[in-house]
Amino acid sequence: MKAQGFALMEGADAAALEAIVGKRNVIFHDEERLEPFSHDETAERSYASMPEAVVRPASTAEVSKVMAYASSRRIPVTPRGAGSGLSGGCVPAMGGIVLSLDRMNAILDIDLENLMVVAQPGVVTNSINEALKKHGLWFAGYPMSLETCFLGGNVAENAGGGKAVKYGVTSRYVTGLEVVLASGEVLRLGGKLRKDVTGYDLVHLLVGSEGTLAVITEITLSLMPVPRRKAVLLASFAGAAEAIGAVPRIIREARIVPTSVEYMDRASILASCGYLNESIPYGEAGAMLLLEVEGEGNDEVFANYSAIGGVCEAAGAQSVYVADNRTTMERIWNVRRNIAEALKVRSPRQSLEDVVVPTAAIPAFMEGLLSLAAEEGVQIPCYGHAGDGNLHATVIKPGQWSEEEWARRLHHILERLYRLSNSLGGRISGEHGIGNKRRDFIGINLDPATIALMKGIKAVFDPQAILNPGKIFPE
Ligand SMILES: Cc1cc2nc3c(=O)[nH]c(=O)nc-3n(C[C@H](O)[C@H](O)[C@H](O)COP(=O)(O)OP(=O)(O)OC[C@H]3O[C@@H](n4cnc5c(N)ncnc54)[C@H](O)[C@@H]3O)c2cc1C
Repeated sequence: MKAQGFALMEGADAAALEAIVGKRNVIFHDEERLEPFSHDETAERSYASMPEAVVRPASTAEVSKVMAYASSRRIPVTPRGAGSGLSGGCVPAMGGIVLSLDRMNAILDIDLENLMVVAQPGVVTNSINEALKKHGLWFAGYPMSLETCFLGGNVAENAGGGKAVKYGVTSRYVTGLEVVLASGEVLRLGGKLRKDVTGYDLVHLLVGSEGTLAVITEITLSLMPVPRRKAVLLASFAGAAEAIGAVPRIIREARIVPTSVEYMDRASILASCGYLNESIPYGEAGAMLLLEVEGEGNDEVFANYSAIGGVCEAAGAQSVYVADNRTTMERIWNVRRNIAEALKVRSPRQSLEDVVVPTAAIPAFMEGLLSLAAEEGVQIPCYGHAGDGNLHATVIKPGQWSEEEWARRLHHILERLYRLSNSLGGRISGEHGIGNKRRDFIGINLDPATIALMKGIKAVFDPQAILNPGKIFPE
C-alpha cells in the first residue's frame, strides 16, 4: 500500500487493464513512455508526478470497466486530455493510472435542426469549429489553446478564451454530458436542451470539476452562428491604468460589447514580437488593448470600430490602429496568442498565473502587481483577458536566484499575488483551475465551511477518493 491507502500497481493489474482496452493501449513499467504523462504545460517540474500506468480506452464501456477495476483495487485514476493544462490538473499526483481519452476522438452528431454538436472528449477543440465551418456555426467558448487542447479538458476546466467578454466560457454551451463515475456507473445528464431545471444542475457541477468527480465521455454543446464580418483594433496607451480605464467606457459610452478585449503590457508585446520576428505598431506604448468587433456587414463593423476607436482616443489612447482584413487581423492575434510561449522560451523558469478580479479593480490590481514585483525583485509581465478581469501575471525567475531560493520565494510571491487579487474581490484562478499547483492556496478564497461542503460533494461522487486525488483541496 502507498499514500492514503492506495494500492501499488502490480503486473496482474496491468494484465487486467490490457484485457479491457487491449495490450497496445496500456503502458506499464516503461519509464520513457510514461514520462510524457507525468506533467502538463505548467512550467515548473516540481508539480510533475509519474504514473504507474497509462490506459487508453476507446469507448464509454471501456472507461466504465477500467473505473470498476480501479475501484475494486483502490487504484488512483487521473483523466487526461491533451495535457495542455496550466495547473497540474492531469498530473497523477498519487501515481496509479493516467486515463488518456485521446482515442475517444469522434464528433458523433452535428445537429443542424437543434443547433447542437455531440462529441467525444478526445476531440481537438479546433476540429469542432473546422467541422462546423461549412454550416456557418461555431462553438464560441473555446480557449486560446484550441489547436492542441481537447474538448473534454475544456469542459473539465471550464475553459474560457479571448471571446469570453461577449460569448462567455465553455459552461455556457454545455447542455448535456455522459459521464462515468468512480464506481464505473454511467450517467447521462441533460441533453439537447436549452432549458432544464429537472433536479439539481449536475451538468454544471461537473463542468470545471477538474476530473475529480467523474470521467466525461460525451459532450453536447449548443452552437452559435459565425459572425459575418469582423475587425481588430489595436489601441496604444501610456500605461496599464489608462488602457484598463478605457474598457468600461467602451461598453458604457459606445454601447458595444466587443467580442474580445485583450490586455498586453509592453514586456509581453516585446517578447511575443521578438519571438515571432513580427512588428506591430506599439511605438512608445506602455500597454495595449486588442479589441475585436463584429457585425452583419462592413457598414456595421465600420460603425462599431469607429465608435470604439473614438472612446479609446477620448480615454487617452496614443494611437488606434484598425485591421479589417483577415491577414492583418491574424498577425495581430498571433502576437497575443504567442505571448505565453514567447515568455516561456525566453524564461523557461516561471509561474504563469491567471487571477481574476472584478473588471473595475484591474487598475488597482496592476498597481499592486507593480509594487509587488519591485519589492520582491522579480519581473512579472502581465497580459490577459481585460474584458473579463482575467489576468496572466507571469512571475519570472531571476537568473541569480538559486533553485532553493526560487522555490521558497515563489511560494511567498504567489501567496502575495493571490492575496492581492482576493483583497480586490478576486479569485486565484479564472480559467486554468486549481489542480495541484494552487491547492495549498484555495483557503485564501474559500472559507472552511465552503471547502467542507465541496469535499462532501466529492465524497458522494467518489467515496474512495480514487479520481484525480491530490487536487483542488489542501491535504
Ligand atoms: C499556450 C496555452 C494557451 C492557453 N490558453 C488558455 C485559454 O485561453 N483559456 C483557458 O481556459 N485555458 C487556456 N490554456 C490551458 C489549457 O489549454 C486548458 O485548461 C484546456 O482546457 C485543457 O485541456 P486539455 O485537453 O489539455 O486538458 P488536460 O490538461 O489534459 O487536463 C486538464 C484537466 O481536465 C481533466 N480532464 C481532461 N479530460 C477529462 C475528461 N474526459 N473527463 C474528466 N476530466 C478530464 C484532467 O484530469 C485535468 O484535471 C492554455 C494553455 C496553453 C499551453
